[in-house]
Amino acid sequence: MAEKGIPFTKKQIEAIISKYPTPFHIYDEKGMRDNAGRLTAAFSWAPGFKEYFAVKACPNPYIMQLFKEEGFGSDCSSMAELVLAERVGITGEEIFFSSNDTPAPEFVKARELGAVINLDDISHIPFLEKHAGIPEQISLRYNPGPLRPGNAIIGKPEEAKYGFTRDQLFEGYRILRAKGIKRFGLHTMVASNELDPDYFVDTAEMLFDLVIDIKAALGLRFEFVNLGGGFGIPYLPEESAIDLEYVSEKIKDLYDRKIRAAGLHPLKIFMESGRMMTGPYGYLVSRVLHIKDTYKKFVGLDASSANLMRPGIYGAYHHITVLDKEGSPQNRIYDVTGSLCENNDKFAVDRLLPEVTVGDIVIIHDTGAHGHSMGYNYNGKLRSAELLLYGDGSVKLIRRAETLEDYFATLDFSRLPKRR
Ligand SMILES: *Cc1c(COP(=O)(O)O)cnc(C)c1O
Repeated sequence: MAEKGIPFTKKQIEAIISKYPTPFHIYDEKGMRDNAGRLTAAFSWAPGFKEYFAVKACPNPYIMQLFKEEGFGSDCSSMAELVLAERVGITGEEIFFSSNDTPAPEFVKARELGAVINLDDISHIPFLEKHAGIPEQISLRYNPGPLRPGNAIIGKPEEAKYGFTRDQLFEGYRILRAKGIKRFGLHTMVASNELDPDYFVDTAEMLFDLVIDIKAALGLRFEFVNLGGGFGIPYLPEESAIDLEYVSEKIKDLYDRKIRAAGLHPLKIFMESGRMMTGPYGYLVSRVLHIKDTYKKFVGLDASSANLMRPGIYGAYHHITVLDKEGSPQNRIYDVTGSLCENNDKFAVDRLLPEVTVGDIVIIHDTGAHGHSMGYNYNGKLRSAELLLYGDGSVKLIRRAETLEDYFATLDFSRLPKRR
């Protein structure tokens, strides 16, 4: 099987491990910047194009700062993500607040920050008005239901909990217009980890057509459409990344033929990718603690699914490299496990690898999105550190590892009966 690249050598990572014990996630700064620049360049034709980095993929202020420097905003969906954006100095319309089943205080916070508010449901119009007031600009999230096929992670649109139906969308804009709102946006998010570039072209076309239909029905003019996130990444070595230039060119063609032709130019194009921006640039670095040979062969790591739960919950593939053994014959079959008391705590099942020995450094690829951020504390496992690796080889600790004190911080042991 083809190998996947790694932005550091064994010597480099050993020096890093001597300072920051395994396991940890390490992110390739240059890789993220190059990819961000590529997206911006691909859409340079689009008036007011903006990517709002979906914070949930990698909610670390240093990562958000990096994308801020690349001209991106933040796509937030919770109180903590809004506060993170605020702490990084990302405010106002640099924040896209795309939530669902939203608690009132989150709408209040989003309003306070001046974020663009994207509503998930028609009942949220009176809810927002009651709790936070109606802002001057608003966006609605469209769920095309049976009109679009879905995919494995997000499911079929008509079964997804997100968004307005088509009829509700028209009704929603009518209500908002009656309330005096003048600035409108339209949003959708119908796929996740989708690798077919034409899916995104179809999404753009769907939104362009809708903008034209709503203009015809209600006379509303839109400031932007937000195509959502969902750009897939090549988790498998034989997959390839989405050709952004192709997607951009096709969308430009549609823009000219539909939006310009309908006299609706300028219409800004927004995106809110998470996975594509950080996923391929993160690596979970761990060490082999045990090799076990029973009915199957097991490689036991010092990382667990508390550090990366995607394989456990979605059966997701994450490529694994045994450092310094890339050239060895991949002729052993292992389950690669962590130490949780859960049998789905496996990074890989029946994976072909070179012969692994205790002490080997194992790199799990593509952990930059929904990796550390989906981490949890089951079995009292502590969350790992996050490191940022720069192009010159230097490293910055951007989140320290948790300690037992962190884990126990919400407990008050003093109320236990006195021990004699
Ligand atoms: C998760 C999410 C995103 C980002 O999705 P990716 O698949 O990481 O690109 C964007 N918008 C919304 C509303 C989301 O829920």
